[in-house]
Amino acid sequence: MVDYITEYIETVGERNVAPTLDPGYLKKLLPSEAPMKGESFESILDDVEHKIMPGVVHWNHPKFFAYFPSGNSFPSILGDMLSSAIGSIGFSWASCPAATELETIVLDWYAKALDLPTFFLSDYADSKGGGAIQGSASECILVCLMTARDRAIKELKADNADIHESVFLPKLMAYCSKEAHSSVEKAAKMALIKLRILDTDERGRFRGETLRVAIEKDINEGYTPFFVVATVGTTGSCVFDNLVEIGKVCKSVPSIWFHVDGAYAGNSFILPEMRHFKEGLEYADSFNTNPNKLLLTNFDASAMWVRDVMALKKALTVNALYLEHNNNSSIDYRHYGIPLSRRFRALKLWFVFRTYGITGLQKYIRNHIALAKVFEDLVHSDDRFEVRNDVHLGLVCFRLKNSDEVNQEFLARINHTGKLHMIPAKVLDKYCIRFCVTYEHATAEHIEAAWEQIKIFADDVLESQSP
Ligand code: PLP
Repeated sequence: MVDYITEYIETVGERNVAPTLDPGYLKKLLPSEAPMKGESFESILDDVEHKIMPGVVHWNHPKFFAYFPSGNSFPSILGDMLSSAIGSIGFSWASCPAATELETIVLDWYAKALDLPTFFLSDYADSKGGGAIQGSASECILVCLMTARDRAIKELKADNADIHESVFLPKLMAYCSKEAHSSVEKAAKMALIKLRILDTDERGRFRGETLRVAIEKDINEGYTPFFVVATVGTTGSCVFDNLVEIGKVCKSVPSIWFHVDGAYAGNSFILPEMRHFKEGLEYADSFNTNPNKLLLTNFDASAMWVRDVMALKKALTVNALYLEHNNNSSIDYRHYGIPLSRRFRALKLWFVFRTYGITGLQKYIRNHIALAKVFEDLVHSDDRFEVRNDVHLGLVCFRLKNSDEVNQEFLARINHTGKLHMIPAKVLDKYCIRFCVTYEHATAEHIEAAWEQIKIFADDVLESQSP
């Protein structure tokens, strides 16, 4: 398997980046029941190559420019393999001391590498904060929303011990912008919370004044604003919200929990030159970023830090005799999230930090930024096209200066070949194509080759439009 993986990674560029198959392709190729008798590893691997691989979208392919990167690297895979081999389930310190302690240490390393506010560190003077590695940014956002909800309801309930918590749910109001990730809406839906999805400014940024007006109106109508999400690096077009403005508004209203979602771009704070986008993070109660997007760490790994770990524990702690142990002062990560059982995820992150070092990770992200700039320049060099976002990181949102329908057809034709892979987004109300640098070893040649292909498809689609 190690040989197969190595060969796969080294030759992935020779495969089509995405399949062009119809749903149900695999059902036709595999038996409808599991085998009664075990089969050989060779026959399984043969089916991997001939039946599974044809249905794989290769996210770590030099021609994959869709979504955000699915972080990956050899050290991360090796750390993950070791985690699988060990197989410990680190829900409490006692259930795997190394998993628990390494998670705490690595998250402190990570927070320091990103220059996060010191209140997020577990090892800093009077800090009450700390972090945990969750499976996804969606999970981080849900956990923070549930914690904020718990805190808000406890405050509303105050001395009325006999009133059920659910009575206060209709009073609570959460806020984000229309550019926030859909996971915010999903978290609100799961938590039975009303969510105001607010407008952005003309560059797609969530601004303080919009939030202030909405909150004031809601307070006048009897609602209790309790949770605000701002984004650093929105999914559609990698916009950075104004954290200073939003943070100040949050601070002016008692009991608002301010969460900053930096699933992709939060990692870029490892670069001193990106840290101006972090101004205002000192107002935040919690922050998440996924090393499995921009820090060369394979899925799943999403880091979450909170200012007040006690708030998290108050919201999420339940106890059972079979989970008890004698080291009550140690961290039990089961109180920091949804599942009881937790993978030893810190191992792969530790492998990544140690193998690349902070300078290696900086170099990787700087390369993505430089290559996005290369692509942006190429788009600007052809006046049939326009760029619709401010390019700060690895994402360029571009389009033909034509109708949304023509751009839709343009992207469909590109993706249909399986030679390049991109996805669309609405940016400033226009249908755009997202070109995101994702490949670890991407070079200017990869970007230029992609651009040459894109231009051929543009010729094609524009010609088909001409009368
Ligand atoms: N937040 C942002 C800004 C994202 O871009 C994404 C996914 O791309 C998410 C949240 C959700 O991430 P996950 O898939 O880890 O839940």
